[in-house]
Amino acid sequence: MLKSKVAVVTGSTSGIGLGIARALAAAGAHLMINGFGEAAAIDKLRGEIAAAHGVRVAFSAADLSKPADATGLIEHAMREFGRVDVLVNNAGIQHVAPVHEFPLERWDAVIAINLTAVFLTTRAALPQMLARDWGRIINIASVHGLVASVDKSAYVASKHGVVGFTKGVALETATTGITCNAICPGWVLTPLVQKQIDALAARDKLDPEEARAKLLGEKQPSLEFTTPEELGALAAFLCSDAAAQLSGVALPVDGGWLAR
Ligand code: NAD
Repeated sequence: MLKSKVAVVTGSTSGIGLGIARALAAAGAHLMINGFGEAAAIDKLRGEIAAAHGVRVAFSAADLSKPADATGLIEHAMREFGRVDVLVNNAGIQHVAPVHEFPLERWDAVIAINLTAVFLTTRAALPQMLARDWGRIINIASVHGLVASVDKSAYVASKHGVVGFTKGVALETATTGITCNAICPGWVLTPLVQKQIDALAARDKLDPEEARAKLLGEKQPSLEFTTPEELGALAAFLCSDAAAQLSGVALPVDGGWLAR
């Protein structure tokens, strides 16, 4: 389906981004992966995905908290492949603290990576998508782009911003072959969430299994984690012709979280 197309997936060295990168490679896309991690582990990952799906896999260490790096990531992909057809804005961070104790430096980092970088990569990638009249922009927001939880003010603000930005881009590209959508996962068991499980276990003196069950029980009625593979399958669907008229939406994948 994506044969000879090129996908850039930010924050794809782990977690959800990696699940989406694998799914797009399985659909035939060449990949630019990005994120932090050990050089040897990232090289191994590149080789493994390339061999499994017969695609080219390049890597950029762009730090998306820096505006020049966010723009540079798209320039790097253009130099490497000559085109960017699919842009998945996935990189994101969390910081948990009450508003009145929230450090400005953490607020700025969350907004820079979760929201401003989404604007910068989209702005850089759009002109050549418009020139070919085809593109898919997929922003990984969160259920926290649609509702709030306590102690996550910066994250909730950034993800609501991503959902709003998604709608704006969808309107501006509505008469073209480009779509722009947001995916809004509930709990997914990745390093980002494991930190929150560890904090809950320490606070309430729970073992890891009890802490996981408590975290899910508070929010996610299915009592199951959403998986990176499920999110990858949804991203691949959004890239398909069947999704050509699907634009400007925020799709929850949350085991019923938002139905309460
Ligand atoms: P993760 O911590 O496993 O992965 C984050 C990825 O982003 C990693 O590859 C990391 O190296 C990269 N990254 C972090 N800071 C970066 C920076 N400054 N520049 C470039 N790359 C950077 O997290 P995850 O849970 O897979 O989260 C991915 C996205 O999904 C985030 O936007 C997150 O907000 C969102 N999300 C996660 C959950 C969840 O339950 N895990 C739920 C809803 C939304």
